[in-house]
Amino acid sequence: MNTDKRKVVLIGTGMVGMSFAYALVNQGGICNELVLIDVNKERANGEAMDLNHGLAFAKSNMRIYAGEYKDCKDADIVVIAAGVAQKEGETRLDLLQRNTEVFRSIINPVVKSGFDGIFLVATNPVDIMTRVTYELSRFGASRVIGTGTSLDTARLRYLLGDYFTVDPKNIHAYVIGEHGDSEFVPFSQVMLATKSVTEILEDERNDYNIDDMQSIEEQVRTSAYKIIKAKRATYYGIGMAIARIVKAILGDENSVLTVSAKLCGEYDSKNVFIGVPCIIGRNGVKEIVELSLTDEEKEKFCKSRQVLEDSFDGLNL
Ligand code: NAD
Repeated sequence: MNTDKRKVVLIGTGMVGMSFAYALVNQGGICNELVLIDVNKERANGEAMDLNHGLAFAKSNMRIYAGEYKDCKDADIVVIAAGVAQKEGETRLDLLQRNTEVFRSIINPVVKSGFDGIFLVATNPVDIMTRVTYELSRFGASRVIGTGTSLDTARLRYLLGDYFTVDPKNIHAYVIGEHGDSEFVPFSQVMLATKSVTEILEDERNDYNIDDMQSIEEQVRTSAYKIIKAKRATYYGIGMAIARIVKAILGDENSVLTVSAKLCGEYDSKNVFIGVPCIIGRNGVKEIVELSLTDEEKEKFCKSRQVLEDSFDGLNL
């Protein structure tokens, strides 16, 4: 991997892709070259112009331009936020099949360019599209990452912070599993600073209770539906989540983030890509952190994994 320059290629300059690009420009210092690629070249060109015009107000300078697949050759990270929307009457699996064809038209030229960095996938259903990227690229599993439940985890921490009136940064909690309806919160692992939330809930001197925890978990699971109902799509939160993962990789942070990663025996699972806490650094997934789940939580994980396995098995790759 190239180390003296931090170059990111974004494929898919729609709402999610450009929210990520906008976060990069505003946060500053994460990368110094950003290439925009979209099947709609005019759109990619327009987006590059628009972002460049804001650079005078940004914290640090960046080279931003609309490019071609050959520009992936010396990139550190290729972020994929390209996708097609569900058509009326189309099943989830039909959509999945069409997005797989979109990915075939993307991954093949990226690999052909000589790209040797890390793939970061945001396109939904993200766990399956990450596995599709892995299968099509034949890259090592540590270099193929999906955004997984990173945004869901941020939503959870925000809601728990609000409930306990504590800075979300001091809440240690994860949403794990499929980025979708079968995701869940292993509450046995939730900590406020170094104190277990289970212990806090059992303490009769306060009014905190388990029902509120379940309501928070439900709010996390349904927030995308609510946002989509209100404004048709979600993009700022996921854009910032992508920027956070890119920062962890390029800064070699070894930060723990809940990305979609390939399990190789962890959680008694193999081959599936699923949202789990991972240590993320310059080479992608450095380690999968295996949480000590209760039997009930293990069962939930198993069900979520099965949903993903069934979807992937239905695909014609
Ligand atoms: P969008 O329609 O605004 O943008 C999609 C872009 O992909 C368009 O610009 C389109 O031209 C481009 N595209 C389509 N086919 C292409 C191809 N073959 N090559 C290159 N570009 C191509 O959609 P959006 O709102 O930006 O959403 C993008 C994806 O992100 C969707 O799959 C959405 O479900 C997903 N998403 C994921 C999360 C998450 O948490 N992972 C959250 C929100 C949205």
